[in-house]
Amino acid sequence: MEKGKLSIETQVSHLPFVGPAFGSRLEKLGIRTVRDLLFHLPFRYDDYSLVSEAARIQEGETVTVQGKVLEIKNEYTRGGFVLQRAIVEDFSGTAEALWFNQRFLTRTIHRGDLLSLSGKVERNGRKLLLKSPDYEVINNGLARHTGRIVPVYPETYGLSSKWLRNRIYFLLSEIKNGGLAISDHLDESIREKYHLLDLRTAFYQVHFPDSLKEAQEARQRLAFDELLLSQLEANIRRKELQSQKVGNKFKIVEIRDKLKKLVDSLPFTLTTAQKRVIGEIYRDLSGETPMNRLLQGDVGSGKTVVAALAMLAAYLNGYQTVLMAPTEILAEQHFTTLRNLLSPLKIGVSIATGNHKDYSGLDVVVGTQALLSDKLNFKKLGLVVIDEQHRFGVSQRNKLAEKGINPHLLTMTATPIPRTIALTLYGDLDISVLDEMPKERLPVKTWVIPSQKRNAAYGWIRNQRTQTFIICPLIEESETETLADVKSVKAEYEKLSKTVFPDLRLGLLHGRMKPKEKDKVLADFRNKKLDILVATPVVEVGIDIPEATIMLIEAADRFGLAQLHQLRGRVGRGTKQSYCLLFTQNDGTPALSRLKFLEKLNSGLKLAEIDLKFRGPGQRFGTAQHGRWDLKIATFEDLQLVSETNNLSKEITSHPDLFPTLRKTFLEGKIKTVLN
Ligand code: ADP
Ligand code: MG
Repeated sequence: MEKGKLSIETQVSHLPFVGPAFGSRLEKLGIRTVRDLLFHLPFRYDDYSLVSEAARIQEGETVTVQGKVLEIKNEYTRGGFVLQRAIVEDFSGTAEALWFNQRFLTRTIHRGDLLSLSGKVERNGRKLLLKSPDYEVINNGLARHTGRIVPVYPETYGLSSKWLRNRIYFLLSEIKNGGLAISDHLDESIREKYHLLDLRTAFYQVHFPDSLKEAQEARQRLAFDELLLSQLEANIRRKELQSQKVGNKFKIVEIRDKLKKLVDSLPFTLTTAQKRVIGEIYRDLSGETPMNRLLQGDVGSGKTVVAALAMLAAYLNGYQTVLMAPTEILAEQHFTTLRNLLSPLKIGVSIATGNHKDYSGLDVVVGTQALLSDKLNFKKLGLVVIDEQHRFGVSQRNKLAEKGINPHLLTMTATPIPRTIALTLYGDLDISVLDEMPKERLPVKTWVIPSQKRNAAYGWIRNQRTQTFIICPLIEESETETLADVKSVKAEYEKLSKTVFPDLRLGLLHGRMKPKEKDKVLADFRNKKLDILVATPVVEVGIDIPEATIMLIEAADRFGLAQLHQLRGRVGRGTKQSYCLLFTQNDGTPALSRLKFLEKLNSGLKLAEIDLKFRGPGQRFGTAQHGRWDLKIATFEDLQLVSETNNLSKEITSHPDLFPTLRKTFLEGKIKTVLN
């Protein structure tokens, strides 16, 4: 790559050592451009900064030893395994490292190399050694993977943290030597007032921090940007929307009888909350400006039928609707539901996913992101519905909306987010809440199970003769499942199949399976060919399997209450009594008393508020679906930041001249920044 040719928009596949194969793996992590790669933040750090003299390592310590390789060799054990043994020497003496089955090591490490080793010191008989340490030959260079605080990234198959580290390190060096220009879009006055690092330093320190404190400050700076800019965008959008006119406002009063016919045909009566929200939506649809409404409602509160009633109004006014859902499974499910509801009224329902395309009717089109890339055109798109909206970015939502002329927008979410925060962060949206469950629905009976009752609980499950979900948590907080997560859910599945429920039919579901495999397992579960589904939590938010009545959650203390509530919402969808069993390895009082709230409370919103109280700032539970909303870096637990940036965004909007840099970079877009 020529110097100076790099920009924030450069495709990662053009970077040195990437190419098409790694490019497509990066794409799996959502990384397409240099910008995406810079914003691929570590989810934790390994602190390898303690460098020890080789002769003075101590049992139990996590240390780095750096020295000359005296010896590196393969050793064959009687069991047919291969060990790799290395001995390194520094001025104090020698230290020994041992790996298992890493044959390539003897090819990458050579006698005489300067080797840096980081890992835990373990005792083996009378000897101390570094067992399977991270390693790096540092003959002519600085250590990146050892000897410092080392970033650990969300990975995917064939893309390790070590590989990502090298690529990101390359970008950071380009920033340093001027090969990649990054200008700070924040005015210095703002950075000073809020004690923020400058942008380049923030990127450097978030990836390769000098200390954990600096890593934290770097993240803080990036979170600040994210919150500030999302609020500035909201301010701008609100202004724009207020000046937009809908092409044609919908007639509602005139079609009242036909709307009522759909309501009357439902096998249930609408809840008061559903009626109220439908009223709010119809008021928007018949208004002068396009609707921009967020519908928030717990799992099972009945959002789909509300959306269907909005779709019917669009259809009767001569408009088309598009509904986008984050996963194929959800899209298929919506397709089936909507076809059942709407096709008796002669409304054509179509689907567009990666696997499944059927455009036989084009009044309502349901799909995944496939809707965006497709050459899918609408004659008259009047309504855009987005389910689980926090799983999509603003740009994806806009792209869909651009297929029409200022269409009405209805976004839906089951993620509980305290109202004050929703209003501050998403000030451009009107919010409706379904705060009532359908009447005949029985609350899910929830029990926290102490560890000594685990076996009794398994016995109880067997006796219930129903279908059960068993959820294993992710091992580390991370956006995507790591290989270790897959390994642990597989191990749990094996254990349960072999020793606990050998007589039952078990299935396994995790995020790294192919879509077809996932569909098959879910279909088997739905068709009662499986009794128990062992899964990770990132699996499918809105799946609806009414016959499943038990939800068992392992290591429940590792989740937030709101997230547990969402998982528990997978059961209790039919008319039978359902149960949620919370297992925990941590029988300590604070962990248990926090979980006990789930036995008593049945409101996602209340539980989310309790989560806020229980978590100290910066402390988080597993991220999967715990309500990150649009945010990638900040979370709404960053309450302090939310209110600071909210005030600042208002100040900037009313006095842009006081912030010349922001004005040029962001408000007017005259200077390209890393964010726009
Ligand atoms: P969510 O809000 O989680 O998307 P759904 O729209 O999938 O919920 O609804 C969950 C289930 O509840 C569906 O089977 C739906 O038919 C049913 N349902 C919706 N509204 C009502 C109601 N008022 N009374 C009874 N059942 C309802
Ligand atoms: Mg839903």
